[in-house]
Amino acid sequence: MTDNSLNLKPQHFFNCLTEITADDFTKMGVKLIAVDLDNTSVFDCTMTPVKGAKAWFKKIKEAGFKVVLISNSFELRGHIMGKVFGCNSYGPAAKPDTKMMAKAAEEAGVKPCEMALVGDRLFTDIAGANKFGAVSVYVRPYRKEFMIPRYWKKARQDEIDYLKTINISRDLKTIYYK
Ligand SMILES: [Mg+2]
Repeated sequence: MTDNSLNLKPQHFFNCLTEITADDFTKMGVKLIAVDLDNTSVFDCTMTPVKGAKAWFKKIKEAGFKVVLISNSFELRGHIMGKVFGCNSYGPAAKPDTKMMAKAAEEAGVKPCEMALVGDRLFTDIAGANKFGAVSVYVRPYRKEFMIPRYWKKARQDEIDYLKTINISRDLKTIYYK
């Protein structure tokens, strides 16, 4: 089931998380970076960080940004990955619901527009960030999903179709096997 009232258009687009620099976030005018888990900072359905992710979290924090995880995954998994990346984790977030974004922003003492949310899904990450008034940052998913429940399949196809209309290729080959 997809919701036509959602704004799916990312404000920024990168190939992958580790391609985003502290300078990029400075230009966005944000202080808090919220990062999605699956296929953004860890491989889908695993506890394995994507290549360079641990170093990336360290570097972005050292540049003076607050970094948190906001995932729709279960709480314990977010908590464990938070330990791995050295940051707080909020979830399960049920993005595009904005409750956990609001909690993270409030605890960090920032306005919604001073927060970026980086994620690989339009209907959850990007729609949620746009709804909250945060800066929405889309990254290509790291690899094909391990498992797509039947009720998500239409949303996945809608996502690919929508990306074409805004000239973003969903081609996974560029980063799939890195
Ligand atoms: Mg994801």
